Amino acid sequence: MALAHERVFGQRYLPLQPAPYKAYIETYGCQMNFADSELVAGILQSTGYGFTADPAEADLVLLNTCAIREHAEEKIWQRLKYFQSLKHKRSHLIVGVLGCMAERLRKKLMEEAPVVDLVAGPDSYRHLPQLIRQVEEGHKAIHTLLSREETYADVAPLRLSPHKVSAYISIMRGCNNMCSFCIVPFTRGRERSRPWQSIVEEARTLADQGYKEITLLGQNVDSYNDNGVLFAELLQRVAEAVPEVWIRFATSHPKDMKDEVLKTIAAYPNLSPYIHLPVQSGSDSVLERMNRGYTAAWYKERIAAIRTYLSDAVLSTDIIVGFCGESEEEFQDTLRLMEEVRWDSVFQFMYSERPGTLAARRYKDDVPSSVKQARLEQVIALAQRIGLENHQLRIGKVYEVLLEKAARRNPEDMAGRTFSGLPVVVRDASRRYEPGDKVRVHITEVSAVTLIGYALGAA
Ligand code: SF4
Repeated sequence: MALAHERVFGQRYLPLQPAPYKAYIETYGCQMNFADSELVAGILQSTGYGFTADPAEADLVLLNTCAIREHAEEKIWQRLKYFQSLKHKRSHLIVGVLGCMAERLRKKLMEEAPVVDLVAGPDSYRHLPQLIRQVEEGHKAIHTLLSREETYADVAPLRLSPHKVSAYISIMRGCNNMCSFCIVPFTRGRERSRPWQSIVEEARTLADQGYKEITLLGQNVDSYNDNGVLFAELLQRVAEAVPEVWIRFATSHPKDMKDEVLKTIAAYPNLSPYIHLPVQSGSDSVLERMNRGYTAAWYKERIAAIRTYLSDAVLSTDIIVGFCGESEEEFQDTLRLMEEVRWDSVFQFMYSERPGTLAARRYKDDVPSSVKQARLEQVIALAQRIGLENHQLRIGKVYEVLLEKAARRNPEDMAGRTFSGLPVVVRDASRRYEPGDKVRVHITEVSAVTLIGYALGAA
Protein backbone atom coordinates (compact mmCIF):
# COMPACT_ATOMS: atom_id res chain seq x y z
CA MET A 1 0.00 0.00 0.00
CA ALA A 2 1.37 3.35 -1.00
CA LEU A 3 4.06 2.75 1.49
CA ALA A 4 1.91 4.87 3.74
CA HIS A 5 2.03 1.51 5.46
CA GLU A 6 5.70 2.11 6.24
CA ARG A 7 4.94 4.60 8.92
CA VAL A 8 5.53 2.68 12.09
CA PHE A 9 3.67 3.63 15.18
CA GLY A 10 2.17 1.86 18.14
CA GLN A 11 -1.32 2.05 19.53
CA ARG A 12 -2.56 0.89 22.86
CA TYR A 13 -6.19 0.11 23.34
CA LEU A 14 -8.35 1.80 25.90
CA PRO A 15 -10.10 -0.12 28.65
CA LEU A 16 -13.72 -0.98 27.96
CA GLN A 17 -16.28 -2.56 30.29
CA PRO A 18 -15.12 -5.13 32.87
CA ALA A 19 -14.74 -8.65 31.48
CA PRO A 20 -13.33 -11.91 32.88
CA TYR A 21 -10.28 -11.78 30.58
CA LYS A 22 -8.42 -8.76 29.37
CA ALA A 23 -6.62 -8.38 26.08
CA TYR A 24 -3.95 -5.85 25.24
CA ILE A 25 -3.32 -5.18 21.55
CA GLU A 26 -0.35 -3.25 20.22
CA THR A 27 -0.38 -2.30 16.55
CA TYR A 28 2.46 -1.41 14.20
CA GLY A 29 2.62 -0.48 10.54
CA CYS A 30 0.05 0.64 8.07
CA GLN A 31 -3.55 1.80 8.29
CA MET A 32 -4.61 -1.69 7.17
CA ASN A 33 -3.04 -3.09 10.32
CA PHE A 34 -4.91 -0.59 12.47
CA ALA A 35 -8.14 -1.58 10.76
CA ASP A 36 -7.24 -5.26 11.29
CA SER A 37 -6.65 -4.69 15.01
CA GLU A 38 -10.22 -3.38 15.25
CA LEU A 39 -11.41 -6.57 13.55
CA VAL A 40 -9.39 -8.66 16.00
CA ALA A 41 -10.83 -6.64 18.90
CA GLY A 42 -14.34 -7.31 17.54
CA ILE A 43 -13.65 -11.05 17.35
CA LEU A 44 -12.19 -11.12 20.88
CA GLN A 45 -15.06 -9.11 22.33
CA SER A 46 -17.57 -11.58 20.92
CA THR A 47 -15.79 -14.32 22.90
CA GLY A 48 -15.98 -12.37 26.16
CA TYR A 49 -12.72 -10.43 26.22
CA GLY A 50 -12.42 -6.94 27.59
CA PHE A 51 -9.46 -4.68 26.86
CA THR A 52 -6.79 -2.95 28.85
CA ALA A 53 -4.28 -0.23 28.10
CA ASP A 54 -1.84 -1.78 30.56
CA PRO A 55 -0.08 -4.96 29.40
CA ALA A 56 0.85 -5.71 33.04
CA GLU A 57 -2.78 -6.54 33.79
CA ALA A 58 -3.53 -8.37 30.53
CA ASP A 59 -4.30 -12.08 30.18
CA LEU A 60 -3.68 -11.95 26.45
CA VAL A 61 -1.15 -9.76 24.64
CA LEU A 62 -1.31 -9.49 20.87
CA LEU A 63 1.25 -7.69 18.73
CA ASN A 64 -0.09 -6.82 15.29
CA THR A 65 3.11 -6.51 13.30
CA CYS A 66 4.57 -5.03 10.14
CA ALA A 67 7.25 -6.62 7.95
CA ILE A 68 7.79 -3.85 5.45
CA ARG A 69 11.28 -3.03 6.67
CA GLU A 70 13.88 -4.57 8.92
CA HIS A 71 13.51 -1.86 11.53
CA ALA A 72 9.82 -2.67 12.03
CA GLU A 73 10.68 -6.30 12.78
CA GLU A 74 13.59 -5.46 15.08
CA LYS A 75 11.21 -3.47 17.23
CA ILE A 76 8.96 -6.51 17.67
CA TRP A 77 11.86 -8.72 18.80
CA GLN A 78 12.60 -6.06 21.43
CA ARG A 79 8.99 -5.94 22.58
CA LEU A 80 8.93 -9.73 22.87
CA LYS A 81 11.80 -9.54 25.37
CA TYR A 82 9.67 -7.20 27.48
CA PHE A 83 6.68 -9.54 27.32
CA GLN A 84 8.96 -12.42 28.31
CA SER A 85 9.75 -10.56 31.54
CA LEU A 86 6.05 -9.93 32.08
CA LYS A 87 5.33 -13.61 31.68
CA HIS A 88 7.67 -14.43 34.55
CA LYS A 89 5.25 -12.55 36.80
CA ARG A 90 2.02 -13.71 35.11
CA SER A 91 2.59 -17.28 34.07
CA HIS A 92 -0.88 -17.65 32.52
CA LEU A 93 -0.25 -14.73 30.15
CA ILE A 94 -0.75 -15.68 26.48
CA VAL A 95 1.43 -13.83 23.98
CA GLY A 96 0.52 -13.81 20.29
CA VAL A 97 2.05 -12.31 17.17
CA LEU A 98 -0.27 -11.29 14.34
CA GLY A 99 0.14 -9.53 11.01
CA CYS A 100 2.75 -9.49 8.28
CA MET A 101 5.75 -10.45 10.42
CA ALA A 102 3.79 -13.41 11.77
CA GLU A 103 3.12 -14.51 8.22
CA ARG A 104 6.73 -14.05 7.14
CA LEU A 105 8.56 -15.47 10.17
CA ARG A 106 6.08 -17.96 11.58
CA LYS A 107 8.59 -20.77 12.25
CA LYS A 108 11.38 -18.50 13.44
CA LEU A 109 9.05 -16.78 15.89
CA MET A 110 8.00 -20.09 17.40
CA GLU A 111 11.54 -21.45 17.53
CA GLU A 112 13.48 -18.39 18.64
CA ALA A 113 11.01 -16.58 20.89
CA PRO A 114 9.76 -19.06 23.53
CA VAL A 115 7.50 -16.33 24.92
CA VAL A 116 5.34 -16.58 21.78
CA ASP A 117 2.38 -18.94 22.29
CA LEU A 118 0.41 -18.06 19.22
CA VAL A 119 1.12 -16.93 15.66
CA ALA A 120 -1.65 -15.86 13.30
CA GLY A 121 -1.31 -14.32 9.83
CA PRO A 122 -3.56 -11.61 8.36
CA ASP A 123 -6.07 -14.15 6.99
CA SER A 124 -6.27 -16.19 10.21
CA TYR A 125 -8.00 -13.85 12.67
CA ARG A 126 -11.32 -15.70 12.46
CA HIS A 127 -9.50 -18.67 14.03
CA LEU A 128 -8.20 -16.71 17.03
CA PRO A 129 -10.74 -18.11 19.54
CA GLN A 130 -9.73 -21.71 18.68
CA LEU A 131 -6.04 -20.80 18.67
CA ILE A 132 -6.35 -19.24 22.13
CA ARG A 133 -8.15 -22.34 23.38
CA GLN A 134 -5.34 -24.50 22.00
CA VAL A 135 -2.82 -22.46 24.00
CA GLU A 136 -4.96 -22.72 27.14
CA GLU A 137 -4.84 -26.50 26.70
CA GLY A 138 -1.05 -26.35 26.79
CA HIS A 139 -0.10 -26.27 23.12
CA LYS A 140 1.52 -23.71 20.89
CA ALA A 141 -0.86 -22.48 18.18
CA ILE A 142 -0.08 -21.36 14.67
CA HIS A 143 -2.29 -20.47 11.71
CA THR A 144 -0.80 -18.61 8.77
CA LEU A 145 -2.63 -19.97 5.74
CA LEU A 146 -3.36 -17.25 3.22
CA SER A 147 -6.83 -17.27 1.77
CA ARG A 148 -8.18 -16.38 -1.65
CA GLU A 149 -11.59 -15.45 -0.21
CA GLU A 150 -11.27 -14.01 3.29
CA THR A 151 -12.45 -10.38 3.48
CA TYR A 152 -13.94 -10.42 7.03
CA ALA A 153 -17.00 -8.82 5.44
CA ASP A 154 -19.27 -10.21 8.18
CA VAL A 155 -17.02 -9.31 11.15
CA ALA A 156 -17.97 -6.14 13.00
CA PRO A 157 -14.82 -4.20 13.97
CA LEU A 158 -14.68 -2.82 17.48
CA ARG A 159 -13.88 0.91 17.20
CA LEU A 160 -11.80 1.90 20.15
CA SER A 161 -10.65 5.42 19.39
CA PRO A 162 -11.78 7.82 22.13
CA HIS A 163 -13.50 10.20 19.68
CA LYS A 164 -16.02 9.18 17.05
CA VAL A 165 -14.51 11.34 14.33
CA SER A 166 -12.62 9.21 11.78
CA ALA A 167 -12.83 5.52 10.95
CA TYR A 168 -11.28 3.09 8.49
CA ILE A 169 -13.15 0.60 6.35
CA SER A 170 -11.15 -2.15 4.61
CA ILE A 171 -12.57 -2.61 1.14
CA MET A 172 -10.15 -5.25 -0.08
CA ARG A 173 -7.22 -7.37 1.06
CA GLY A 174 -3.95 -8.53 -0.48
CA CYS A 175 -2.25 -7.34 -3.64
CA ASN A 176 -1.73 -8.86 -7.09
CA ASN A 177 1.06 -6.50 -8.05
CA MET A 178 4.61 -7.66 -7.67
CA CYS A 179 6.50 -4.46 -6.98
CA SER A 180 9.94 -5.96 -6.58
CA PHE A 181 10.72 -4.26 -3.25
CA CYS A 182 7.46 -5.17 -1.56
CA ILE A 183 6.75 -7.98 0.89
CA VAL A 184 2.97 -7.42 0.91
CA PRO A 185 2.05 -9.95 -1.81
CA PHE A 186 3.84 -12.61 0.28
CA THR A 187 2.38 -11.64 3.65
CA ARG A 188 -1.14 -10.61 2.69
CA GLY A 189 -1.70 -12.85 -0.30
CA ARG A 190 -3.80 -12.45 -3.42
CA GLU A 191 -6.13 -9.53 -3.91
CA ARG A 192 -9.78 -9.94 -2.86
CA SER A 193 -12.50 -7.30 -2.94
CA ARG A 194 -15.04 -7.16 -0.18
CA PRO A 195 -18.72 -7.15 -1.29
CA TRP A 196 -19.80 -3.57 -1.91
CA GLN A 197 -23.04 -4.00 0.06
CA SER A 198 -21.17 -4.76 3.29
CA ILE A 199 -18.95 -1.69 2.76
CA VAL A 200 -21.97 0.57 2.26
CA GLU A 201 -23.66 -0.95 5.33
CA GLU A 202 -20.57 -0.37 7.46
CA ALA A 203 -20.34 3.22 6.25
CA ARG A 204 -24.00 3.80 7.13
CA THR A 205 -23.50 2.29 10.60
CA LEU A 206 -20.52 4.59 11.20
CA ALA A 207 -22.50 7.62 10.04
CA ASP A 208 -25.36 6.68 12.38
CA GLN A 209 -22.85 6.45 15.23
CA GLY A 210 -21.73 10.00 14.49
CA TYR A 211 -18.48 9.47 12.59
CA LYS A 212 -17.62 12.42 10.36
CA GLU A 213 -14.94 10.99 8.12
CA ILE A 214 -14.32 7.53 6.63
CA THR A 215 -11.20 6.28 4.86
CA LEU A 216 -11.66 3.35 2.49
CA LEU A 217 -8.57 1.16 2.64
CA GLY A 218 -6.89 -1.26 0.26
CA GLN A 219 -3.35 -1.95 -0.96
CA ASN A 220 -4.45 -0.87 -4.44
CA VAL A 221 -7.97 0.56 -4.34
CA ASP A 222 -7.98 1.21 -8.09
CA SER A 223 -8.22 -2.50 -8.76
CA TYR A 224 -11.26 -2.97 -6.51
CA ASN A 225 -13.70 -5.24 -8.36
CA ASP A 226 -16.68 -6.86 -6.69
CA ASN A 227 -18.32 -8.84 -9.51
CA GLY A 228 -18.08 -5.92 -11.90
CA VAL A 229 -18.60 -3.13 -9.37
CA LEU A 230 -15.37 -1.17 -9.81
CA PHE A 231 -13.83 1.41 -7.51
CA ALA A 232 -15.51 4.44 -9.11
CA GLU A 233 -18.91 2.82 -8.66
CA LEU A 234 -18.11 1.82 -5.08
CA LEU A 235 -17.12 5.42 -4.33
CA GLN A 236 -20.38 6.63 -5.81
CA ARG A 237 -22.45 4.17 -3.75
CA VAL A 238 -20.68 5.06 -0.51
CA ALA A 239 -20.90 8.80 -1.23
CA GLU A 240 -24.65 8.51 -1.83
CA ALA A 241 -25.20 6.29 1.24
CA VAL A 242 -23.54 8.74 3.66
CA PRO A 243 -23.78 12.22 2.12
CA GLU A 244 -23.02 13.86 5.47
CA VAL A 245 -19.66 12.06 5.84
CA TRP A 246 -16.35 13.04 4.24
CA ILE A 247 -14.91 10.09 2.31
CA ARG A 248 -11.23 9.53 1.58
CA PHE A 249 -9.37 6.49 0.30
CA ALA A 250 -5.90 5.00 0.18
CA THR A 251 -3.94 3.81 -1.68
CA SER A 252 -4.04 4.49 -5.40
CA HIS A 253 -1.65 2.99 -7.94
CA PRO A 254 -0.45 5.17 -10.83
CA LYS A 255 -0.76 2.36 -13.37
CA ASP A 256 -4.38 1.65 -12.41
CA MET A 257 -5.85 5.03 -11.53
CA LYS A 258 -8.74 5.70 -13.94
CA ASP A 259 -10.31 8.97 -15.04
CA GLU A 260 -13.66 7.48 -13.98
CA VAL A 261 -12.53 7.66 -10.35
CA LEU A 262 -11.50 11.30 -10.74
CA LYS A 263 -14.81 12.19 -12.43
CA THR A 264 -16.71 10.51 -9.59
CA ILE A 265 -14.75 12.44 -6.96
CA ALA A 266 -15.53 15.67 -8.82
CA ALA A 267 -19.24 14.80 -8.95
CA TYR A 268 -19.81 14.21 -5.21
CA PRO A 269 -19.29 16.98 -2.66
CA ASN A 270 -18.40 14.53 0.12
CA LEU A 271 -15.61 12.72 -1.81
CA SER A 272 -12.33 14.28 -0.76
CA PRO A 273 -9.91 15.38 -3.53
CA TYR A 274 -6.95 14.08 -1.51
CA ILE A 275 -4.94 11.65 -3.64
CA HIS A 276 -2.01 9.67 -2.33
CA LEU A 277 -0.26 8.42 -5.47
CA PRO A 278 3.03 6.67 -4.68
CA VAL A 279 5.64 7.30 -7.36
CA GLN A 280 8.60 5.60 -5.61
CA SER A 281 11.16 6.94 -8.12
CA GLY A 282 11.44 9.50 -10.91
CA SER A 283 13.73 7.29 -12.99
CA ASP A 284 12.26 4.99 -15.65
CA SER A 285 15.06 2.46 -15.24
CA VAL A 286 14.56 2.30 -11.46
CA LEU A 287 10.78 2.06 -11.94
CA GLU A 288 11.38 -0.86 -14.26
CA ARG A 289 13.60 -2.62 -11.71
CA MET A 290 10.91 -1.92 -9.12
CA ASN A 291 8.38 -3.55 -11.49
CA ARG A 292 5.98 -0.66 -10.98
CA GLY A 293 4.39 -0.90 -14.43
CA TYR A 294 4.61 2.80 -15.41
CA THR A 295 7.12 5.43 -16.45
CA ALA A 296 7.72 8.93 -15.10
CA ALA A 297 5.89 10.33 -18.17
CA TRP A 298 2.87 8.12 -17.44
CA TYR A 299 2.90 9.27 -13.82
CA LYS A 300 2.99 12.93 -14.88
CA GLU A 301 0.08 12.35 -17.22
CA ARG A 302 -1.93 10.90 -14.29
CA ILE A 303 -1.07 13.96 -12.20
CA ALA A 304 -2.22 16.20 -15.06
CA ALA A 305 -5.50 14.27 -15.21
CA ILE A 306 -6.00 14.67 -11.45
CA ARG A 307 -5.42 18.41 -11.72
CA THR A 308 -7.77 18.66 -14.71
CA TYR A 309 -10.70 16.98 -12.96
CA LEU A 310 -9.94 18.16 -9.40
CA SER A 311 -8.69 21.72 -9.35
CA ASP A 312 -8.47 21.64 -5.53
CA ALA A 313 -6.62 18.30 -5.35
CA VAL A 314 -4.08 17.78 -2.61
CA LEU A 315 -1.38 15.35 -3.61
CA SER A 316 1.04 13.21 -1.67
CA THR A 317 3.43 10.44 -2.61
CA ASP A 318 5.96 7.87 -1.40
CA ILE A 319 9.58 7.91 -2.54
CA ILE A 320 12.17 5.20 -1.96
CA VAL A 321 15.82 6.25 -2.18
CA GLY A 322 18.76 3.91 -2.64
CA PHE A 323 16.90 1.12 -4.43
CA CYS A 324 19.17 -1.58 -5.91
CA GLY A 325 21.63 -0.07 -8.40
CA GLU A 326 20.24 3.48 -8.10
CA SER A 327 22.88 5.71 -9.73
CA GLU A 328 23.36 9.40 -9.01
CA GLU A 329 21.75 10.23 -12.37
CA GLU A 330 18.72 8.07 -11.57
CA PHE A 331 18.43 9.75 -8.20
CA GLN A 332 18.59 13.18 -9.85
CA ASP A 333 15.58 12.10 -11.98
CA THR A 334 13.64 11.74 -8.75
CA LEU A 335 14.60 15.21 -7.57
CA ARG A 336 13.64 16.63 -10.98
CA LEU A 337 10.25 14.94 -10.80
CA MET A 338 9.70 16.38 -7.34
CA GLU A 339 10.29 19.87 -8.76
CA GLU A 340 7.83 19.20 -11.57
CA VAL A 341 4.98 17.56 -9.67
CA ARG A 342 5.32 19.59 -6.46
CA TRP A 343 3.48 17.18 -4.13
CA ASP A 344 2.01 18.74 -1.01
CA SER A 345 3.61 16.04 1.11
CA VAL A 346 6.09 13.25 0.58
CA PHE A 347 6.68 10.11 2.64
CA GLN A 348 10.28 9.15 2.03
CA PHE A 349 12.09 5.93 2.82
CA MET A 350 15.50 4.35 2.45
CA TYR A 351 15.34 1.07 0.59
CA SER A 352 15.40 -1.88 2.97
CA GLU A 353 15.83 -5.30 1.40
CA ARG A 354 13.21 -7.84 2.43
CA PRO A 355 14.14 -11.50 2.03
CA GLY A 356 11.96 -13.36 -0.45
CA THR A 357 10.95 -10.34 -2.51
CA LEU A 358 11.64 -10.14 -6.23
CA ALA A 359 14.30 -7.49 -5.66
CA ALA A 360 16.11 -9.61 -3.08
CA ARG A 361 16.25 -12.46 -5.57
CA ARG A 362 17.13 -10.41 -8.65
CA TYR A 363 19.25 -7.46 -7.58
CA LYS A 364 21.98 -6.48 -5.19
CA ASP A 365 21.22 -4.03 -2.39
CA ASP A 366 24.37 -2.21 -3.44
CA VAL A 367 23.81 1.47 -2.62
CA PRO A 368 25.96 2.20 0.47
CA SER A 369 23.93 3.23 3.49
CA SER A 370 25.81 6.54 3.72
CA VAL A 371 24.66 7.34 0.16
CA LYS A 372 21.09 6.25 0.98
CA GLN A 373 21.15 8.51 4.02
CA ALA A 374 22.49 11.49 2.05
CA ARG A 375 19.83 11.00 -0.65
CA LEU A 376 17.10 10.70 1.95
CA GLU A 377 18.19 14.01 3.44
CA GLN A 378 18.09 15.68 0.02
CA VAL A 379 14.58 14.38 -0.60
CA ILE A 380 13.43 15.55 2.83
CA ALA A 381 14.91 19.02 2.31
CA LEU A 382 13.36 19.42 -1.14
CA ALA A 383 9.98 18.06 -0.02
CA GLN A 384 9.96 20.55 2.85
CA ARG A 385 10.83 23.48 0.62
CA ILE A 386 8.10 22.58 -1.89
CA GLY A 387 5.59 21.81 0.89
CA LEU A 388 6.25 25.20 2.43
CA GLU A 389 5.92 27.00 -0.91
CA ASN A 390 2.63 25.22 -1.62
CA HIS A 391 1.35 26.09 1.83
CA GLN A 392 2.37 29.75 1.54
CA LEU A 393 -0.13 30.08 -1.33
CA ARG A 394 -2.84 29.08 1.17
CA ILE A 395 -2.23 31.93 3.60
CA GLY A 396 -5.29 34.18 3.77
CA LYS A 397 -7.69 31.48 2.54
CA VAL A 398 -10.59 30.08 4.56
CA TYR A 399 -11.02 26.30 4.81
CA GLU A 400 -13.62 24.05 6.34
CA VAL A 401 -11.77 21.97 8.92
CA LEU A 402 -12.84 18.83 10.78
CA LEU A 403 -11.37 19.03 14.28
CA GLU A 404 -9.84 15.77 15.47
CA LYS A 405 -8.07 16.30 18.82
CA ALA A 406 -6.08 18.67 21.01
CA ALA A 407 -2.91 19.82 19.27
CA ARG A 408 0.28 18.08 20.39
CA ARG A 409 2.31 21.18 21.16
CA ASN A 410 -0.35 23.29 22.84
CA PRO A 411 -3.52 21.64 24.17
CA GLU A 412 -5.37 24.96 23.89
CA ASP A 413 -5.08 24.57 20.12
CA MET A 414 -6.81 21.82 18.17
CA ALA A 415 -5.58 19.71 15.27
CA GLY A 416 -7.74 18.81 12.32
CA ARG A 417 -7.83 18.44 8.56
CA THR A 418 -9.37 20.26 5.66
CA PHE A 419 -11.76 18.37 3.40
CA SER A 420 -8.84 17.91 1.01
CA GLY A 421 -6.72 16.35 3.77
CA LEU A 422 -4.40 19.23 4.68
CA PRO A 423 -3.36 19.19 8.35
CA VAL A 424 -4.41 22.32 10.24
CA VAL A 425 -3.69 23.65 13.73
CA VAL A 426 -6.52 25.87 14.95
CA ARG A 427 -5.40 28.35 17.59
CA ASP A 428 -7.30 28.66 20.89
CA ALA A 429 -9.99 26.23 19.70
CA SER A 430 -10.10 23.80 22.64
CA ARG A 431 -12.32 25.98 24.82
CA ARG A 432 -14.90 26.56 22.11
CA TYR A 433 -14.97 23.33 20.13
CA GLU A 434 -14.83 19.55 20.43
CA PRO A 435 -13.38 16.76 18.32
CA GLY A 436 -15.83 16.13 15.47
CA ASP A 437 -16.84 19.78 15.07
CA LYS A 438 -16.48 21.35 11.62
CA VAL A 439 -15.30 24.95 11.65
CA ARG A 440 -14.29 27.57 9.12
CA VAL A 441 -10.65 28.47 9.61
CA HIS A 442 -8.80 31.52 8.37
CA ILE A 443 -5.19 30.55 7.60
CA THR A 444 -2.71 33.05 8.97
CA GLU A 445 0.60 31.19 8.96
CA VAL A 446 2.06 27.92 7.68
CA SER A 447 4.91 25.48 8.16
CA ALA A 448 6.18 22.92 5.64
CA VAL A 449 3.62 20.40 6.87
CA THR A 450 0.82 22.32 8.58
CA LEU A 451 -1.57 25.20 8.02
CA ILE A 452 -2.20 27.36 11.08
CA GLY A 453 -5.13 29.67 11.66
CA TYR A 454 -8.11 30.86 13.69
CA ALA A 455 -11.67 29.58 13.69
CA LEU A 456 -14.24 32.01 12.26
CA GLY A 457 -17.19 29.92 13.48
CA ALA A 458 -18.98 26.64 12.89
CA ALA A 459 -19.02 25.43 9.29
S1 SF4 B 1 3.12 -4.93 -4.34
FE1 SF4 B 1 3.17 -2.75 -4.98
S2 SF4 B 1 1.04 -2.11 -5.10
FE2 SF4 B 1 1.08 -4.05 -3.91
S3 SF4 B 1 1.22 -3.40 -1.77
FE3 SF4 B 1 3.33 -3.67 -2.47
S4 SF4 B 1 3.94 -1.61 -3.18
FE4 SF4 B 1 1.72 -1.59 -3.03
